[in-house]
Amino acid sequence: MVKYIFVTGGVLSSVGKGILTSSIGKMLQIRGLNSTVIKIDPYVNVDAGTMNPYMHGEVFVTEDGGETDLDLGWYERFLDLGLKQENNLTTGLVYRSVIEKERRGDFLGRCVQIIPHITNEIKKRIKAVSKLNNSEIVLTEVGGTVGDIEGLPFLEAIRQMRIDEGFENTLYVHVALVPVLDVTGELKTKPLQHSVNELRRIGIQPDTIVARSPYMIDAAALGKIALFGTIPEKAVFCSYNAKSVYEVPLILNKQGMGDFICKRLGFSCVEKNYQNWLNFVKSVTKPKHEVNIALVGKYSGLSDSYVSMKEALTHGGAKIDTQVCISYLESEKFERDPQCVKELQNFDGIFIPYGFGSRGSEGKIAAINFARVKDIPFLGICFGFQLAVIEYARNVCGLKMANSSEIVSDSPHQVIDIMPEQRSIKSKGATMRLGSHKIVIKPGTIAHSLYKTNEIYERHRHRFEVNLDYLDILKSKGLIFSGNSTDGRRMEILELPNQYFFFASQYHGEFKSRPEKPSPVYSGFIKACLSKKKGKEKPTFT
Ligand code: GLN
Repeated sequence: MVKYIFVTGGVLSSVGKGILTSSIGKMLQIRGLNSTVIKIDPYVNVDAGTMNPYMHGEVFVTEDGGETDLDLGWYERFLDLGLKQENNLTTGLVYRSVIEKERRGDFLGRCVQIIPHITNEIKKRIKAVSKLNNSEIVLTEVGGTVGDIEGLPFLEAIRQMRIDEGFENTLYVHVALVPVLDVTGELKTKPLQHSVNELRRIGIQPDTIVARSPYMIDAAALGKIALFGTIPEKAVFCSYNAKSVYEVPLILNKQGMGDFICKRLGFSCVEKNYQNWLNFVKSVTKPKHEVNIALVGKYSGLSDSYVSMKEALTHGGAKIDTQVCISYLESEKFERDPQCVKELQNFDGIFIPYGFGSRGSEGKIAAINFARVKDIPFLGICFGFQLAVIEYARNVCGLKMANSSEIVSDSPHQVIDIMPEQRSIKSKGATMRLGSHKIVIKPGTIAHSLYKTNEIYERHRHRFEVNLDYLDILKSKGLIFSGNSTDGRRMEILELPNQYFFFASQYHGEFKSRPEKPSPVYSGFIKACLSKKKGKEKPTFT
């Protein structure tokens, strides 16, 4: 029998449901129980791919090319999972398939309704995920906040699942904010009480409540939460502010949440060795060294826009006991005032992330130029890779007007151009080159010394690529393309071996980076940043 754990959130969004859900998975994993995770996003979009990262945070790309909510990234990182498109469920997806069935005549003669047709479709999809990932436990995180109109069909479906699957196979976890009133310094549980009431109004009584508060709640607050929530005190836990999100499973586990959930679901299990996780958390929270990285982007006002990149940098740092401090800089400021680029001198490394469109692209090119000329360790990802090619074409190959056809349509030298197979595509949803593709690495290159293998698989999300017409001139002027697609026609990695560290990839290594297994690209970059800071010879990565 599959067990289902449902996580809902109250009071406000961004209360940390994603981290809580991942942490529950981790507490189960350290007891030898494997779970899979499904994220419900009640918005009407079919997937996250068409949403602005500045509003919604990054789009996380799964191995099979799904453009999903960033919480899937947290699940993958915490639990070392490889999730699929089906692990993200949206209103758009559910309605689309119910409407398709209606058009086909599957419900002939009947009136198609939210209950039971939409709720049945939701339940079917949640249940299908356990088979897809072959898991004994399915964790379902319901996005948004209890009380949102668009979340109602999903809450109704999970309410019904207790009847379908049985009490012993279902568990409701509710997490809500417990703020501190700055006037009195008092913990306030009333908003949480209201959100529990809202959940009950829908017909769900939580089995356990997690208070999300700035610090550990006191006995009085715990008592109130238990009393008003109609649960025993031992079913109330507190997720307080931690230095690192990776500490949250440890914090909750110490309070007994792992044991509580196991017992409640009928598992008799004991904690196994999770020393690697503890070591990782230690190197993140008590690092020996520090590097300062400038992340020059266009969505810099919202760090969630670059969350997988931030975490991959953290993982890379942890490997060498190094804290990575990231300054998010708006690239447009280097366009308004070109002198500003000199600020980059103060950093141990310059990182150019993914991106789309023309806004801020010249500022990023200026930052790449500064990194190359001043020999500051540089890492570029996807758009960062493409802009590094443009910078090199302009300033080393003498192609002054070089550009990408994404940025300007009339450049005489479109060194980055749309992929041929993309030209006829008009629709924007799920049409980029997405997901995992094989890359062949040239022996004797930095890429090879980082990965130590001839073949890798990495995830992609792009429409543009290096224009092969310019390959000869770029190569003849010293740019090394050290990784290609199997047919050799797509440039996937570039490097400048004479620089201290100058490396970029068309793919996104961050999506496969794990706390205990950092992406080689990111760990190589951080290693170079630390060596340079300490005035050492450039690292060889052997
Ligand atoms: N805008 C570029 C492209 O579509 C890069 C995309 C990215 O950085 N993910 O190719």
